[in-house]
Amino acid sequence: MNKCIICESKEQIVLKSNFKFVSSDIKKINFSTNFFICNKCGCLQKKIDKNYLKNINKIYKKYTGFSKYNEIDQRKVLNGGNFNRCELLFKKFLNKNKYYEVLDYGSSNGAMLMPFIGLNKKLYATDLKCNLSSKILKNKNFIRFINLKNFQKSRKKYDVITMIHVLEHLRQPKEVLSNIRRKLNKNGIIFVQIPNFLLNPFDLSVYDHTIHFDKNTLIRLAIESNLEIIKIDEEFMNGEFSIILRKSYKNKNIKKNNESILKKIDYFNSFGEKIKKINKIKNLSLLGSSISSLFIKENFKGEIKNFYDEDLSKIGKYFEGKRIKKLAKQNKENLFLPFYDKKLLQITKRLNKSYDYNLICLD
Ligand SMILES: [Zn+2]
Repeated sequence: MNKCIICESKEQIVLKSNFKFVSSDIKKINFSTNFFICNKCGCLQKKIDKNYLKNINKIYKKYTGFSKYNEIDQRKVLNGGNFNRCELLFKKFLNKNKYYEVLDYGSSNGAMLMPFIGLNKKLYATDLKCNLSSKILKNKNFIRFINLKNFQKSRKKYDVITMIHVLEHLRQPKEVLSNIRRKLNKNGIIFVQIPNFLLNPFDLSVYDHTIHFDKNTLIRLAIESNLEIIKIDEEFMNGEFSIILRKSYKNKNIKKNNESILKKIDYFNSFGEKIKKINKIKNLSLLGSSISSLFIKENFKGEIKNFYDEDLSKIGKYFEGKRIKKLAKQNKENLFLPFYDKKLLQITKRLNKSYDYNLICLD
């Protein structure tokens, strides 16, 4: 039987999934898994067994990240504008002179280092293998790539260690964070970005997301890793948490949310129900070529007519064998919006103003 990843309790409630999964690098997946929620700490997680591990390894072996779209970073459409995710995070949380020695943990192609490269900093990266873009490798401020195996043993210390969409993939987050903690300078921080599944239910559909964090689970994980949370932001990037941690031996009381275990179980089950409901519709078009678009396409039994995108750089490219189109006036198709929370409200409002599509969403 699985132990809870966070608190090691064996008391758990199994939650069965009735939907098809996708991978975090936006690919279809033909294997399944169940979830469990820890009865002690309330952490929702995938059931890690031999089969799950085998499938996860398959995903990571062929992992492409965002490079398959020739992009370094995931683009965010905010208020109709188009921004790089890491640029926004940098400006909001990391643009400080005192952050001089910077390491990106789980660096992939180096999107989180990009905002730093024009500044007077020393930049480092670590990952299983080096996929850094040539822009970073050639930059004079980039010092070196450290293989993850060597990183664990190294004694070098940093002012900032960033982990952008890494923590939700880990099977031993406590061990990893405790190790990273030892690499911090005296006033060093760890910056963590992860999905907030209670705002973004599509996070549940990502097979290789092992842990689905909520505020209470994060606080628990910080305590277990001897870290202190300086900041948890759930507003800045909709559907995600931005967290700043520092070394601590004592832990302050951070206000917990009162998300009960039953409430989380309800939330999980209603996700499955909502997908069933969408399947009563005969045909759909989809907006965007994101993980959630692929998830809806995979779980929808009717006909998918078109893929649309508001990001003009995507128009004409292929997604799931179809050419991505620009939204058109006087089109009355069913248009599914695979978004959530505030972003969903904003987009619905904007599209209703200028278009005639019959807008559909998960809620
Ligand atoms: Zn637990």
